[in-house]
Amino acid sequence: MINYQLAREELIETLQRKGIKDKRVLDTIREVKRHLFIPPNMRGRAYEDSPLPIGKAQTISQPYMVAWMTELLHLKGKEKVLEIGTGSGYQAAILAHLCAKVFTVERISELAKEARERFEKQGIDNIVQKVGDGTLGWREFEPYDCIIVTAGAPSIPNKLINQLIDGGRMVIPTGPRRIQDLKLVVKHKGEPLITSEGGCIFVPLLGSDGWKSQEK
Ligand code: SAM
Repeated sequence: MINYQLAREELIETLQRKGIKDKRVLDTIREVKRHLFIPPNMRGRAYEDSPLPIGKAQTISQPYMVAWMTELLHLKGKEKVLEIGTGSGYQAAILAHLCAKVFTVERISELAKEARERFEKQGIDNIVQKVGDGTLGWREFEPYDCIIVTAGAPSIPNKLINQLIDGGRMVIPTGPRRIQDLKLVVKHKGEPLITSEGGCIFVPLLGSDGWKSQEK
């Protein structure tokens, strides 16, 4: 029998060692059961600090990346957050604990459906989902206080900047298809102020303002 609670405590120590400081973020990672967001045969590895396959050639992100990106959003509890790339639903579940409402877009319908079932089973009721091309954002509910893109983009889609409130924050990995730089975008008087936060590796953001599927 795996002691998931103990494994989560060890993960928290790892995240702190790697520099995560936000107590609300750490407490949420302690609370949300990552093993319920991955295929049953991978559960023994649920609390390793690594990405894991979730099917359809996609991954659940590394816990450190989830913690780091979430920390950069500076969530206080009342925000409306747009996530691009629902995947397993784990990052959305973390956000759902830390803000008022999460809007999440996934292009692969099977993954979106599995994520929906996980939210329902766990009683998480402040996440709204849709299947579609997240490079276009989600016009219906704009503007967002924060946007988090959990796939690697060739560049920052303007449509996402447009859907951010003034003063809002966005985190997005950008750069070459195989290795990216995590960008923080803070919108100030309508203009994006962009800083590079460090290297990262994500699956590609595919879509009209992202990578085209055949591009290398
Ligand atoms: N946030 C996810 C989690 O917690 O499991 C991890 C996301 S995974 C690294 C990236 C996801 O982005 C994949 O599920 C992929 O299908 C999705 N994706 C890629 N391009 C997309 C697009 N244009 N719109 C929406 N989702 C996209």
